[in-house]
Amino acid sequence: MAARTATVVLDRELLELASSLVCLLRDNQIIFLNNAGVRMLGLAAAEEVIGCPFEEWVVDDYRFLMEAGWDLLAEEDFLPLKLSRADGTVFEAELRVRRTPTDDTYFIEGRDISKFVKSAEALREREERLQGILASVAEGIVTINDSGKVESANPAAEHMFCYKRGQMAGIDLGDLMPDDMRDRHQRFFDAYMAGLFPTLMGRLVEGVGLRLDGSTFPMEISVSELRHGKQRLFTAILRDISERKENEDRIRRLAHHDSLTGLPNRNLLNDRMNHALARVKRHGGRMAVLYVDLDKFKPINDTLGHEAGDHVLREVSRRLAACVRSSDTVARVGGDEFVVVVEEIQRPVEAALVARKIVDSLSKAVDYQGHACQVGASIGVAVFPDDGNSMEEVCKAADVAMYRVKHAGRNGFCFFAGYNQPIEEYKE
Ligand code: GH3
Ligand code: MG
Repeated sequence: MAARTATVVLDRELLELASSLVCLLRDNQIIFLNNAGVRMLGLAAAEEVIGCPFEEWVVDDYRFLMEAGWDLLAEEDFLPLKLSRADGTVFEAELRVRRTPTDDTYFIEGRDISKFVKSAEALREREERLQGILASVAEGIVTINDSGKVESANPAAEHMFCYKRGQMAGIDLGDLMPDDMRDRHQRFFDAYMAGLFPTLMGRLVEGVGLRLDGSTFPMEISVSELRHGKQRLFTAILRDISERKENEDRIRRLAHHDSLTGLPNRNLLNDRMNHALARVKRHGGRMAVLYVDLDKFKPINDTLGHEAGDHVLREVSRRLAACVRSSDTVARVGGDEFVVVVEEIQRPVEAALVARKIVDSLSKAVDYQGHACQVGASIGVAVFPDDGNSMEEVCKAADVAMYRVKHAGRNGFCFFAGYNQPIEEYKE
């Protein structure tokens, strides 16, 4: 008996060494509470609770747990609940209940986990704030692991590529690109992982994004690497630049095209002529420049209004374009003045055929709201290298030839150098 008492004393001394609350329960009454437990519950001495049910220290909302019975609770790994101290304050705790093997005593071990819960809450709050920021940024943010698979994507990225919430995780980054770019990306990724091109990280590059529906869009990408322990993670910041590209294209178009007819303007014409000239100089042959001024265009404005004039100009543009090959250029260079550049001709007669076609085409009336608008075309033709050594000289020659047609009665064409045909031969 003395030995057993000694064992109990020794056991209790051992239980005092524990830093967590240790409580023994028999017949639903506390028979032992160690000093750590006394401190945790804010008591003066263990005697204050001896003989009391443990539930007294459990906050009301959690008492239902005890109703399940201690046997059932003993099957759980841990029970998270709230306990109240002697002064009524409440703290987060975690209990572990076990039934002792020898008698009907339950062994309760308890830890104050308030600090842990607080830091977990702070962590969750931080995470939520971060998620809030990621959800609100306009840029797509995608994290990629070292196998090139998407680990996470913010809502902007999902929206950009037309994926549903959470659907992007696990896909290959290459699945977000069209075939040609995917191959290039894979080669770059492999080379980067092998230690090449480290300087490309963080730089802005332009690429093409592939949406889930198969459509594509231009995007700007900046990738940076972030080491997570031993793991290599990449963050890609993606921006849909469709709008910017469209604006750039529009500005470029405006700078090079006539807004009424959509034809190249004088800027683009000069550019095209210089290229054409360089080709003729390199490969030989000829090119012709046709100066086209509409005949009696002004009366359409005067009788039917400016809108009617605009309509005629647009229709004339379509007809001019239909008279030439796609490699030739038709430009609008003034109110009712157009320039046609006919490339790759061997003989001037080839330019004459185009001029004839244009005269015929523009002599047909243009319908505007039931009104037959009749115009004609006076065309001056000059040929490189025959009529000048530079583009300026050839253009000037075509202009001079055009005025000859006007003076000769309009509606026809005339070569600057004449090519021995009298102008009348070409007139309608
Ligand atoms: P001609 O036979 O001698 O060539 O005379 P025309 O009546 O064709 O008149 P002209 O070539 O001398 O002048 C062209 C007119 O085109 C002058 C201007 O009022 C008109 N015009 C210029 N730009 C535009 C435009 O963008 N829209 C419209 N509707 N008219 C224009
Ligand atoms: Mg005119």
